[in-house]
Amino acid sequence: MNRKKIFWHIFPSFLILIILSLIITTWYSTQESNAFYQRQTIEDLKSRALIFASYLSSKKLTKKQIDPLCDIAGKKSKTKITVILPNGVVIGDSEKNPNQMENHINRPEIIGALKHGIGWQIRNSNTLNQKMMYVAIPYIFKNSVIAVIRTSIPMTSFSIPMLKLNEKIILLVGTIAIIAGLICIYITKRIVAPLEEIKNGIDEIKNGNLSKKLPIPKTEEIAVISEAFNDMTKDLSQKIERITKNKNEQQAIFASMSEGVLAIDNNERIIRINDAAESILKITKNTGKGKMICEIIRIPELINFINELLSATKPIETEIYWETTNARHFYVSGTILKDYDGVKIGAVIVLNDITRIHKLEKIRSDFVANVSHELRTPITSISGFAEVLLDEGIQEPEKTKHYAQIIVKQSKRLNNIINDLLTLSKIEDGSQSQILPFINTEVKQIIDAAIQACSTLAAEKDMKLIVDCNDEFIVKANQDLLETAIKNLIENAIKYSEPQKEIFIKCEREKDFLNINVIDNGFGISKEHQERIFERFYRVDKARSRNQGGTGLGLSIVKHIAITHNGSVFVKSNDNQGSTFTIQLAMNNDR
Ligand code: ADP
Repeated sequence: MNRKKIFWHIFPSFLILIILSLIITTWYSTQESNAFYQRQTIEDLKSRALIFASYLSSKKLTKKQIDPLCDIAGKKSKTKITVILPNGVVIGDSEKNPNQMENHINRPEIIGALKHGIGWQIRNSNTLNQKMMYVAIPYIFKNSVIAVIRTSIPMTSFSIPMLKLNEKIILLVGTIAIIAGLICIYITKRIVAPLEEIKNGIDEIKNGNLSKKLPIPKTEEIAVISEAFNDMTKDLSQKIERITKNKNEQQAIFASMSEGVLAIDNNERIIRINDAAESILKITKNTGKGKMICEIIRIPELINFINELLSATKPIETEIYWETTNARHFYVSGTILKDYDGVKIGAVIVLNDITRIHKLEKIRSDFVANVSHELRTPITSISGFAEVLLDEGIQEPEKTKHYAQIIVKQSKRLNNIINDLLTLSKIEDGSQSQILPFINTEVKQIIDAAIQACSTLAAEKDMKLIVDCNDEFIVKANQDLLETAIKNLIENAIKYSEPQKEIFIKCEREKDFLNINVIDNGFGISKEHQERIFERFYRVDKARSRNQGGTGLGLSIVKHIAITHNGSVFVKSNDNQGSTFTIQLAMNNDR
């Protein structure tokens, strides 16, 4: 649309109005002044004719004397003077020989003079060949018209001053028009300026600068608009600020959720997706939005779930298992999304990673199965030999002794398993409820206590326990637990080595950590078992372990104790080349 500025709406109208009124005024004034001047000239010519008539009446002149008189009077008064008889015959003329002049009876000024006492006309003079003004009056003597006296002047003597006057008027009017035009521009600009400022302000606000304040002009109507506008932008800015804050909060919550959340529309196009969902579904960051769900997700179960959800009327849920780099279990729940009018616009899907819960459940059920299995073996053995004893009685003392020894051994094993299980549960309970006392302890003292506890076992196999530990090494530890862990490692070193070997218990500092190493020259552990030996009931060689009275829980206990101390345990070993078990603890433990 072709739109004009307010300036061009106001200014030309004002200007046209001014020019029009000036033209009308000028036209009227020039007309009036022309008419006035004309009237004045007629009066002037009439006066000259009257003077000439009174001169004529004062002298008794013959017809022949009139013409020279006309010449003299005409020259002196710079007026063409003509004397005409009532029958139209010219008897005197200041410019021409009256005998050569035609009858003037039909001249309008003569007719006017004879009829109305005065007559005048402007026309071209045949005699002088120029435009002239003629005024004629009757010359009355003794109540009868005896001649008509006509005075005339060329129109130039009348029109030149008139033209000059008109020129001055036009010049003046032109000057007034220019000044009025300039004033008009000034006034229009003054009216338009605040409106321009409002427009510029709106443009700035449109470009996002909501802090822009419009100046308040002095014009009341526009000031009201500016004030209303300023109030409106302030209100708008506060609302936008509130909405942005809410949106940011929602986005922060949405982004920081550990659950994967994705919203889709009715056409299965992703409307929103949070970081967790992107990572769960392995979607590159910020690329999912706007895409069809089947374009970016390759999990048939999830796609089926979404299809089902979009045609469902109430929330649905399921568990989905899929394998990407590793096996993952998800609890997936979905709800229909509705707008304010209750019309379905899509759905929200929440993905909960329950892989850990599944793993824990599996560990728990495996543990129960393992415990049952581990307990069943000695119990079966005990009950079996007890029954044999019952059946056979004490007929063969040697056999009976042997059976009783087996029962005792299996009972001890049973006792060991139960003790280890109790220790494990004590560590777990203690670390969970954080009630275990931790105090600064000299490591050397704890190692000595552990060696003391293992001395009988070592003596049985004629093995030497050699300690290399600085007395000043201090860690924050639970003494009983750390002693149990070191004791377990020393016992294993004894159990899984040939007799008469040496075992070293060596402490060394590594940056902020203290490494307690238990080094043996025993059977060693091959690489494939090293990762699993810290699992409960895991044994490399079951028969050997059982023979040694092992429960398969010793290293698991060590691992738990290390974790409870915010430390770790690891092993370096090779088949038949001995093993080094290391408990690593922080030296400045702030626990
Ligand atoms: P166990 O009661 O059977 O000793 P552990 O949990 O203490 O149970 O140890 C698990 C397994 O790790 C043992 O059965 C054994 O096969 C192996 N193992 C532990 N310590 C050593 C060691 N110092 N040398 C060789 N093998 C070891």
